[in-house]
Amino acid sequence: MKTSNRLIGPWRTRLQWLLCLLFLLLPWLEMNGNSLVRIDIPGLRLYLFGQVLRIEELYLVLLGILVFVLAFLLVTVVLGRVWCGWLCPQTTISDLAEGLGRRLGLRIRHNRMQGSRRSRLLLHVAFLAIALLTAATLLWYFIAPRDFWSRLPGLDLPAAAWITLALVTLLLYLDLGLVRRLLCRDFCPYGRIQTALVSPVTLTLHLPPGARGHCIDCGACVRACPMEIDIRQGLQVECISCARCLDACRRVMAGRGRAGLIRYTFGLQGRGARALLDVRVLLPAAAVLALLLLLVTLAHNRPVASLKVAVSHTVPQRRLDGDRLGTFFNAWVDNRGQKAATYTIDAADATTGTPLPLKGQVRARLAPGENRRLDFVLVSPARGSPAVRFTLRDESGRPVATAGARLALADKTGP
Ligand code: SF4
Ligand code: SF4
Repeated sequence: MKTSNRLIGPWRTRLQWLLCLLFLLLPWLEMNGNSLVRIDIPGLRLYLFGQVLRIEELYLVLLGILVFVLAFLLVTVVLGRVWCGWLCPQTTISDLAEGLGRRLGLRIRHNRMQGSRRSRLLLHVAFLAIALLTAATLLWYFIAPRDFWSRLPGLDLPAAAWITLALVTLLLYLDLGLVRRLLCRDFCPYGRIQTALVSPVTLTLHLPPGARGHCIDCGACVRACPMEIDIRQGLQVECISCARCLDACRRVMAGRGRAGLIRYTFGLQGRGARALLDVRVLLPAAAVLALLLLLVTLAHNRPVASLKVAVSHTVPQRRLDGDRLGTFFNAWVDNRGQKAATYTIDAADATTGTPLPLKGQVRARLAPGENRRLDFVLVSPARGSPAVRFTLRDESGRPVATAGARLALADKTGP
């Protein structure tokens, strides 16, 4: 069977650059005045593509993580270790470090860079700059870059930010300078998990038995392998499915007018993409799809605002003129929508539905994602029902959230 001798490597490199660019740019992008993707730890909020999720909506984040983990396992069953060779940041770090080393004239053997002292020094300066930029970018997923740069000159960043920046820079520098492929080969558990998940449908890079007879033992595939393994000896746990050996063989064979011998196939039986019509793929795919639908439905139907109400702990209840009580409340209104909105709070007796007057801050305009505390007094009959229902309404008077509270009994209040 003849196959094309087009090289795969340039596509892998383009994908890695694209992902790096995305990683660097995402923290700078905004939607509705908020970061596109950011975790606000002090505010307990997650900004995600125009949505602002608060800690109470963590169930959506957990569901999202579940979908991601299941999808990741599905991708592993279908595409094997393509994640390792094509998408994993550790591989990108290793490729970047080795690529820079080669450009500076260094040789790479057994994960070590060998060459002139000057080139190695230059390389380590580059590693430090890359580590610092990557660590700062990671931080910008927690502190908006504009905020970061405005606070930097006055050294006004929180201590945790400085510690994170220093630690991540150090770890990345060590990774670039020393660890690189060692992590994939000796420490990363994913390779071991993938070995357990490999099935007769998994995309596998190998030298098919039928092609072995055409191998000229030139060794180009072994020399090209960053993990220093010999793909001709079959599937090995160290293989990251990067396809460098495949490209090397294609180059050698192109010179002889033949197709490359090393191939990606779904399973080892050469059944093509039909191999994917397998219960081991279809069942998890259906589960991922169902959970994804559930997540989208829940996210789409989430309330646009929330209301929390509590009797004030600092201002005591008072008996007003006649037979009326004044109870002080603190309310927290959260605008979860993508636009600024004006909200109004009203109250009613939860048993009879009789409206109860509120005095104080019962109306506010909130920016998207803003959470604000409002303080007001509820005026109620001293001998009425203790249960009160509060309603938060939008500009058109439509109820968007409710909250309940219980009042202290009248005979406990002072005159
Ligand atoms: S054997 Fe081939 S695909 Fe596997 S790591 Fe080596 S070069 Fe990459
Ligand atoms: S590059 Fe191809 S021909 Fe050369 S040793 Fe590897 S498999 Fe054989």
